[in-house]
Amino acid sequence: MGKTKKVGTAGRYGVRYGLKLRNKLLEVERKQKIKHECPKCHKLQLKRLAVGIWACRKCNHQFAGRAYWPIGE
Ligand SMILES: [Zn+2]
Repeated sequence: MGKTKKVGTAGRYGVRYGLKLRNKLLEVERKQKIKHECPKCHKLQLKRLAVGIWACRKCNHQFAGRAYWPIGE
């Protein structure tokens, strides 16, 4: 995939991405917009602390998940 570059949240949507990648990003965006459920208390209060690290605002449960959404493919 060539050079790896660290980009901020805005940089992820730059024009350098191809159409395929753009579609992938749209999918990611869609997943980010839906509410995510805490695996412990099942409240929709998950918050992303860092890339891949999620925490529940209700029960403070912390876990490692996916980079841009908590659980799933
Ligand atoms: Zn919870």
